[in-house]
Amino acid sequence: MPEPDRLRSLPSVASLLEAQEIRRILRKTPRAVVVDAVRRVLSAFRREAAAGAPSRSREEWTALLVSRLPAEVAAAEEPSLRRVINATGVVIHTNLGRAPLPEEGIRAVSLAARGYSNLEFDLASGGRSSRLVHVERLILGLTGAESAHVVNNNAAAVLLCLAGLARGREVLVSRGELVEIGGSFRIPDIMAESGASLVEVGTTNRTRLRDYENAATARTALLLKVHRSNFSVSGFTEEVSTAELSSLGARLGIPVMEDLGSGAIFDFSAAGIPGTPTVRQALSHGPGIVTVSGDKLLGGPQAGIIAGRKELVDPLKKHPLSRALRIDKLCLAALAATLALYADERRAAASVPVLAMMTEGEGAVRARARKLVRRVRKAGGAGLLLSIERADSSPGGGAMPEVRIPTACVAVSHPGMRVEDLEETLRRGDPPVVARIAKGKLLLDMRTVRDGEVADLAAALLAALSAG
Ligand SMILES: *Cc1c(COP(=O)(O)O)cnc(C)c1O
Repeated sequence: MPEPDRLRSLPSVASLLEAQEIRRILRKTPRAVVVDAVRRVLSAFRREAAAGAPSRSREEWTALLVSRLPAEVAAAEEPSLRRVINATGVVIHTNLGRAPLPEEGIRAVSLAARGYSNLEFDLASGGRSSRLVHVERLILGLTGAESAHVVNNNAAAVLLCLAGLARGREVLVSRGELVEIGGSFRIPDIMAESGASLVEVGTTNRTRLRDYENAATARTALLLKVHRSNFSVSGFTEEVSTAELSSLGARLGIPVMEDLGSGAIFDFSAAGIPGTPTVRQALSHGPGIVTVSGDKLLGGPQAGIIAGRKELVDPLKKHPLSRALRIDKLCLAALAATLALYADERRAAASVPVLAMMTEGEGAVRARARKLVRRVRKAGGAGLLLSIERADSSPGGGAMPEVRIPTACVAVSHPGMRVEDLEETLRRGDPPVVARIAKGKLLLDMRTVRDGEVADLAAALLAALSAG
């Protein structure tokens, strides 16, 4: 039968909405949601008919639609943004939302969200104030900077600095640092948007102080150093340290800026994880201004922090772009609460999730892996083959590209199920679990799975098997 004939008996949306079963759904679901769901199922029928599905009577089509509709409606009512269990071992996973907030940050967000606040209101004088006051003092105390500004994210911080300090003039950057950070943040593009002109110095693998010196002219507004973040250069390489660049800048009277990317407040090297200086250490090498992300190694909300010398940072606070790039009150609340935890490094290491995950010992991660295995086995195991394997977690977020943190993974396989299917079923489950496949096994890295998620993860594994 040709396709149009096969579809002749397909019921109309209007007639379907009169069907008994659908009227029942309409009693508890908004009409628009049901109509959309009906339309989606009907389009699926048309596609199936085009692909050669058998012809059906009107009653058969209706029955089939009624059987599919509840799942379609449920899917439509599910919020798009959902909690996910991160079993990838990538601590700062940009696609999974980067840093989970500390409890203190979550409480601050909820307080600021629920009602009014003194966001830009000085309670002492009754006059207008700046939202910056809630974080600037904390940043100065933690970094030793003279002045600090906070915007929407670090990309915005870099854009604002370049626009405010170098619009219409030149900025020198090493060719080896013209980086692209995930999500289309490219230094040359940001530079173009800021109105500053990029002057590349040195080569991809080697840049010397002389290269900057030779390129500096009366039009040079800034010497910029960019943290490479998501890659490293090895072999025949040479780069100019921030300290050297800063002395050159001082000699030539040109400010030096460093985009640290994920710069930390916590001293990871003291915890045995080398690779990222603290913002305080970075500033001690002499740049006039540095920029960092709030939701990378700092472990707070999305934000961009600009810290440095007063004469460079203060004018940026009044720059017209500052208004367009300003941090919202919920992120500001979370940032203030997160920064406050750093007054005591030990407390920060325990209560800022990114720090806790980064610094947790392999033994503790292994204990969590054993807990998961015990739980699944206790529930019958469903034929799953489970073992605990050593592997490496990574900081992610372009924070420390070379750093690997020894971790414990639960390796999962099932004789009756392809590992790719297991991975997909877990990813599409509730809550979704994101894991990786290595050497034919599914690896659940327990470093990024928190204690409170072990029960859910066990349940998700068992459910995946009954689904698969
Ligand atoms: C991550 C990163 C950025 C972008 O920061 P966002 O907070 O994601 O906007 C910029 N520069 C460097 C070096 C980075 O690592």
